Amino acid sequence: MVWFMICLLLTSTIALTLCVVFCVLKLKNNPLTVYVRRLISCAAGVTLFNVMAMVLPHRKLSLLLFAFYNIFESLTIMSLFSFVCAYTNRQHVIKALRKPIWIVTAIDSIIMLINPFRNIAFNVERLSDDFENHFYRTFEYTTLYTMHTALIVFLIVASMLLLIKKMLRSPKAYIIKYSSIFLTLCLLTALSMFHLYLDFQFDYSIGLYAIEGLIIFYFSLIYVPRGLMDRLMYYTVANMKDGIICVDIDGTVVHANDAAINFCHADESIITVEKQVMRWKNEDVRTKSEMSAYELTRRVQGERHHYNVQYREILDSFTKSLGYFYLIHDQTEEHKKYESEKYRATHDKLTGLYNKEHFYELVEQLLKDNPDEEYNIIVTDVKNFKIVNDVFGVDAGDALLQKIAEITEKFGGSYCVYARLMSDRFALCIPKKRYSEENLLACYSMADSFFENSSFKTHIHIGVYEVENREMRVSVMCDHAMLAIKTIKDSFRSRVAYYKMELRESFIGGHRIISEFETAIANNHFCAYVQPQISADGSIRGGEVLVRWFHPTDGVIRPNKFITILEETGLISRLDKYMWELACKQLKKWTDCGSKKSYLSVNISRKDFYLLDVYEIITSLVRKYDIEPCRLHLEVTESAIMDSNNHFDIISRLRKYGFIVEIDDFGSGYSSLNMLKDFDADVLKIDMGFLQKNENVNKSRIILRMIISLAKSLNMKVITEGVEHFEQVKFLREYGCDIFQGFYFAKPMAVEDFEKNYLNRRFRMKE
Ligand code: C2E
Ligand code: MG
Ligand code: MG
Repeated sequence: MVWFMICLLLTSTIALTLCVVFCVLKLKNNPLTVYVRRLISCAAGVTLFNVMAMVLPHRKLSLLLFAFYNIFESLTIMSLFSFVCAYTNRQHVIKALRKPIWIVTAIDSIIMLINPFRNIAFNVERLSDDFENHFYRTFEYTTLYTMHTALIVFLIVASMLLLIKKMLRSPKAYIIKYSSIFLTLCLLTALSMFHLYLDFQFDYSIGLYAIEGLIIFYFSLIYVPRGLMDRLMYYTVANMKDGIICVDIDGTVVHANDAAINFCHADESIITVEKQVMRWKNEDVRTKSEMSAYELTRRVQGERHHYNVQYREILDSFTKSLGYFYLIHDQTEEHKKYESEKYRATHDKLTGLYNKEHFYELVEQLLKDNPDEEYNIIVTDVKNFKIVNDVFGVDAGDALLQKIAEITEKFGGSYCVYARLMSDRFALCIPKKRYSEENLLACYSMADSFFENSSFKTHIHIGVYEVENREMRVSVMCDHAMLAIKTIKDSFRSRVAYYKMELRESFIGGHRIISEFETAIANNHFCAYVQPQISADGSIRGGEVLVRWFHPTDGVIRPNKFITILEETGLISRLDKYMWELACKQLKKWTDCGSKKSYLSVNISRKDFYLLDVYEIITSLVRKYDIEPCRLHLEVTESAIMDSNNHFDIISRLRKYGFIVEIDDFGSGYSSLNMLKDFDADVLKIDMGFLQKNENVNKSRIILRMIISLAKSLNMKVITEGVEHFEQVKFLREYGCDIFQGFYFAKPMAVEDFEKNYLNRRFRMKE
């Protein structure tokens, strides 16, 4: 029997040692391993010391080994307790109890170590079994030994309580985790009690330590993690938003979560998961590769849902197939998001039309796809859109843009690509055979009276580029259409302009002007020409200063070649400042020569009001050259005055300062007689358009007479420009015109010529 006991204990020790080695080699990553390892190491110590104490044939040695056995027993139970604390996630308990437990264990160990010399805890006796094999066993336990037992009982009970508490508080899925350890403890305790009660010859209960160590090792490090993982995996899959259908190697559906079942039920023709899997098999979703995916849409409660279905093989660690699964991902939200992002990236927020970039892409594709179809690119632009925003407000501006978008959509229909390029600019690409200028004008004129209760008429300019070179970038095609618009930019009569090659040349010329401007100003290439202004009795009152560019290679360049470009780029303000100063210098020179009455008129561009402090500059110039302000006449076009209230204000202040303000080119643009009511000017300078020969001569004359008489009634002087014939002088004089300017009298000339031939002279009228 002794040999049986020895074999039992040695086998247990070896098994426990192997478990320790396994822990060290294989289970390093599990945080519990350290606790379990400690526990089974101590248990191995218990069995080893016990077997040695039993069989070594020396009483004292046996006593000593039994002492170690007892010490290791305490350490094993202590390790069990700390393991349970860690296992139930109650580390704070062990932290709190560590000190007292260690003290008690230390005292217990000291008692055990003294015992071989004093027998204060227990004694040993030598017995023999039925086969006359001798062995030692403990007996005569003292009260001090009770402390050892109490420590063990306390730690076991504490461990059990911790496990019970945890079991009661944890979800069902965790019951196995705690109950496995709890039941082991219960069983072992019961067996120990049972053993004590029966009082065997051998202490078989020592083997229980080994069993306990092994069970805890198995449950806590092997069985529970896997079992728990199974459960957690099950619930993870069940709770997943994605559907999962697992199929075994025989093609039987092993598991389908709710999301997968709902997905299958959403298709009325498919009732079961099995049917769906069959269908995929028939459709051959499963390809030769281990993984494949495809997209499908399905209507769920009336709403279109987008799914991505992935097929995957389930492989074991030897890459042997265990079956396969389908992962069904409902990507409706992503799809919606993608669609709305795509919409935002390709559409204009305000009008809902395509944006510039998308328009370019679509047109490029359209031209590629239809090589035999001819196309026109149309660009529209609202004249004075800035005024709309300034006067009516941004909301009204937005509303106008929406109206134009509506018109564009209506005109474009289904056979055009159309978009809002930017700000007030819209574009269309239309097949040439469908293009009709008449329709175009009819459509866009619908916006004319957008501001119903206002005298402001919306005027949309349209530029057309007939696509010839399909290789050209669409943005350049639009630029061409815009270039065409520029030719009618200031006109209220023309609405549509077509791109011609010459426009491009003049555009290139425009670039040259900008690049050469600085040098020209620095080298005084800009000169003042003067065109005389003559009163009705023939006396020469003064003249208008008109710029001429003396270009080193191109000769004398007229302002109509460069003023517009300088206005567009803002360079005009530099030129005007320069010209105003030339005029003031000239007036100063004349004053010094005794000619104190003649005046000079200078032109002020509308852009100057935005770019310069016009009031400050002009007033400081007259101060600088010490000239009377009334000798400097300021010509401002009606549109510049109308641009903003601020301009109104500046001009009124200049007038108050003493300058003579002339409304230039009156009647050439968007004349508002209302303006005359609000704005006080000294002189009305009637545009030469009224004198031009056309079929409406009579009407022009009537209007001229009316304007002159209106100006007179408003206490304004009248200048008529563009007078080319004596006959014109006659009727203008008759109508009451005060001053004349035109080729009939003289063309603009160099200042020296003016001084020599016109200053302080009289003009003799000849028929
Ligand atoms: P504007 O201020 O209306 O000047 C009158 C224009 O009419 C001048 O053209 C003049 O040469 C022309 N003209 C005068 N009498 C007749 C005539 O009997 N028949 C015809 N066919 N034309 C006549 P110009 O000098 O070419 O100037 C054109 C425009 O350029 C000016 O129109 C003015 O708006 C602008 N401009 C000229 N110089 C300046 C300047 O220094 N600054 C600014 N901002 N604009 C200027
Ligand atoms: Mg002028
Ligand atoms: Mg004029």
